[in-house]
Amino acid sequence: MATTLITGGTVVSATGRGAADILVDGERIVALLEPGTTALGANLAETVDTVVDATGKYVIPGGIDAHTHMSMPFGGTTASDDFESGTRAAAWGGTTTIIDFAVQKFGERVQDSLDTWHKMASGQCAVDYSFHQIIGDVNDESLAALRRLPDEGITSFKLFMAYPGVFYSDDAQILRAMQIGANTGLLTMMHAENGPAIDVLVEQLLAEGKTDPYYHGIARAWQLEEEATHRAIMLADLTGAPLYVVHVSAKQAVAQLAAARDRGRNVFGETCPQYLYLSLEDNLGAPGFEGAKWVCSTPLRSRREEHQDQVWQALRTNDLQMVSTDHCPFCMKGQKDMGIGDFSKIPNGIGTVEHRMDLMYQGVVEGRITLERWVEITSTTPARMFGLYGRKGVLAPGADADIVVYDPDGHTSIGLGKTHHMNMDHSAWEGYEIDGRVDTVLSRGKVVVAEGEYRGRKGDGQFVRRDPCQYLI
Ligand SMILES: [Zn+2]
Repeated sequence: MATTLITGGTVVSATGRGAADILVDGERIVALLEPGTTALGANLAETVDTVVDATGKYVIPGGIDAHTHMSMPFGGTTASDDFESGTRAAAWGGTTTIIDFAVQKFGERVQDSLDTWHKMASGQCAVDYSFHQIIGDVNDESLAALRRLPDEGITSFKLFMAYPGVFYSDDAQILRAMQIGANTGLLTMMHAENGPAIDVLVEQLLAEGKTDPYYHGIARAWQLEEEATHRAIMLADLTGAPLYVVHVSAKQAVAQLAAARDRGRNVFGETCPQYLYLSLEDNLGAPGFEGAKWVCSTPLRSRREEHQDQVWQALRTNDLQMVSTDHCPFCMKGQKDMGIGDFSKIPNGIGTVEHRMDLMYQGVVEGRITLERWVEITSTTPARMFGLYGRKGVLAPGADADIVVYDPDGHTSIGLGKTHHMNMDHSAWEGYEIDGRVDTVLSRGKVVVAEGEYRGRKGDGQFVRRDPCQYLI
């Protein structure tokens, strides 16, 4: 087995930082050592196969993006990153594990959908991956299949309160699924927006000739996110199911989560970089059809209402626990442009999997979060939330050697033809300048990114079975 020593860096965890060398043997970390440790009188650096010089840099556990949609079917098209291109982009950006979503559509069997996603991902991925299960058709058969998911290493499932006729579950279906969540240890993930109400507003706006991408944000009003978040919390409260609300963007929804947590409930929330940096006015409201680049759901919120600052604040106070991307890219040409003249036909999604670690590091640079909190919300908490902690999310003996060397003196310019490796014809982050740079990435002991070069191969990444949520109160 090959040995690697990462030397000279500052190791940062969710709880602190300090100088240490990390010794890797094969796929695992075997020791954290005092810098310059000798072995039987020899300098350790001279006895290992590979030395990674991390002098002046941070050494952190590899990023875990717990919300991606590679090859996701949506609105008559398919997300433009598949498991190969999407996980390679993830590796470039310091993310060494993704958790994607297997999609059970209406009328399909859960097991068949899971098999389909296994087939799509197997042998394709650059980094490790797992799945959550989307239940798009709650019925007796799918509920029975839900109970068996932990045997497959899948410990979380997602329901939608939005998209009637596609993925939507009504309150009765949500209640029944959450009852299973309560007594199987499966974590219920919720897309919390009031879909039927949104559909009425969409129809009315289109009838008034309001067809631009901007109106996507108007139809998906914050009241409908707050209401659905509250309803999900109450149903979880009633059933005793732990609840995880995905892509929280409205400050009022954050307040609902905070109130539930103040009552001691197992209620959690993630947000995404787009809700911290981008806005209804600046992005969705861009001239012409350009705003389509930023059509995603939940939508970008108004800068005037200061949602962005409140969401940052919630990340600081742990009212929101972690940051995922909801990576679901579509090209402008041939995909987003299906919605010219009708914003409701624009495929929903933004591509961010490559930029999450950098964009969140920018929060450290700007004094919004600490260095330790950066590691916590991008790696350690995602690992605990989704049953990977110990193997992932921590640099400790026995853990997988998923390691990122991050250069605080480096610089990242985001945009097409720069550091962009996602399969897209544009970037939602064009022009963003980050003070910091991913320097070296190890995935289970193998150097996959170094010296500005991708050294991995498709198939390096393996399916990871997950334990139940390790974050419950
Ligand atoms: Zn999503």
